[in-house]
Amino acid sequence: MAQHASRVSRRKVLKSGAAALGGAATLLGGGAAAAAAAVQQPGPRAGEAAERRFRAFVRHGTGASVEELRMLPIQPREVVVRTEASGVCYTITGGVLATTQAQRATIPNHSGMGVVEAVGPLVKRVQPGDRVIVPGTPQCGQCFQCLQGRADHCRFLTVDQHPVARMADGTDVFAGAGLGGLADLMIVYEEYCCPVFTTVSGAELTMLGDTVGTGMAAGMDLISIFPGSDVVVQGAGPVGMGAIQSARIMGAGQIIALEPVAYRREAALKLGATLALDPNAEGDKLVDHIRELCGKETDRRFAGGTNASGRGADFTINACGGDTSVPRVEQVPDPTGILPLQQALQFTRPGGHIVTLGFQQRGQVSFPVLQFVNSGRTFHAGQQGGLNMMRDLPRFVKLIEKGLLDVKSVVTAIYPLDRTRDAVQAAADRTTLGAVVSFV
Ligand SMILES: [Zn+2]
Ligand SMILES: [Zn+2]
Repeated sequence: MAQHASRVSRRKVLKSGAAALGGAATLLGGGAAAAAAAVQQPGPRAGEAAERRFRAFVRHGTGASVEELRMLPIQPREVVVRTEASGVCYTITGGVLATTQAQRATIPNHSGMGVVEAVGPLVKRVQPGDRVIVPGTPQCGQCFQCLQGRADHCRFLTVDQHPVARMADGTDVFAGAGLGGLADLMIVYEEYCCPVFTTVSGAELTMLGDTVGTGMAAGMDLISIFPGSDVVVQGAGPVGMGAIQSARIMGAGQIIALEPVAYRREAALKLGATLALDPNAEGDKLVDHIRELCGKETDRRFAGGTNASGRGADFTINACGGDTSVPRVEQVPDPTGILPLQQALQFTRPGGHIVTLGFQQRGQVSFPVLQFVNSGRTFHAGQQGGLNMMRDLPRFVKLIEKGLLDVKSVVTAIYPLDRTRDAVQAAADRTTLGAVVSFV
């Protein structure tokens, strides 16, 4: 029904656009304006989807609760996705659990996956029935950053966000980061959708749209981990688990995970880390210990050896940010997230590479100037790991299908929508590795 309505509307719009552009004298005037107006106008309701009521976890007022919403009409280039799963990201936990006044009612989170239910008449990338991953970063393919090959900084993110639904009391509801996720429906521009043709579970696929996909991209996009290399991954949360597996898949010789939480160190070893160290136990010796571990083959200078202080890692992936609350498990050495960044510079070898992925660090980072300016170490700041979503997500799916990428082990707790708050609390507390809200 929705599909049929969309097809009719698409023909109508194309016809009127062609007619407008037909008058040569007005090609850059009225014709173009009319075509632009057709794009700007709120689209025809996609079948009966606009009347749809759906349930969502909404942060509003001074709290958050599950609400019944009424969907607003979609724009011509928007897509309605029936959510299957949405992985809860640590970065939303502070905002969701806060009791301060929300600026506007919002469906939190920034990733999900589901099935396309309806499309606006100008949508080309997806069709009703498609399974799609909706990652935290869109990819338009046309903005300056996309054309530079940095789709992780696609400027489509700045497109005006309008309310997608209304609460029973008439309050407008927005979608967090342009997509939300913790709701029966995601109403998104097509630039946020990556169709995937697979039977891999929704819980696994949603992790590719945010945490695990970010870590995977970090080891393959901004840097290219080479076989036999020494890799250090700071943080073995869901992002770190993606990074560890990218190193394993790329054939790293040694993968050292740094993680204070014991159960996460165990999981890291299962997913490919060759060694998991507790930064709390290592204390001041951490940097020297890692240098020693990387380059321990020989000290003989003329035989490819190093020197007494060790070599250091070829690649370091910083997959830990700042803490927004006190975890209910082992605490990190520095809740501001600054210390790991300083240590990364010190234990990465001259000529090595450091990828930073974390969020919510607090303060300023300072480095010994010579180490920073002359040591040949390169920093790569990776928004979503440098993910190029239309290129990368389908190949990550293939890696799951081939058994090379294990996302099942990262999904450790699945919650229904009514227990979303528990899922967010578990992520904040770090009592589970990967919390997913499921809608199927
Ligand atoms: Zn995230
Ligand atoms: Zn773009």
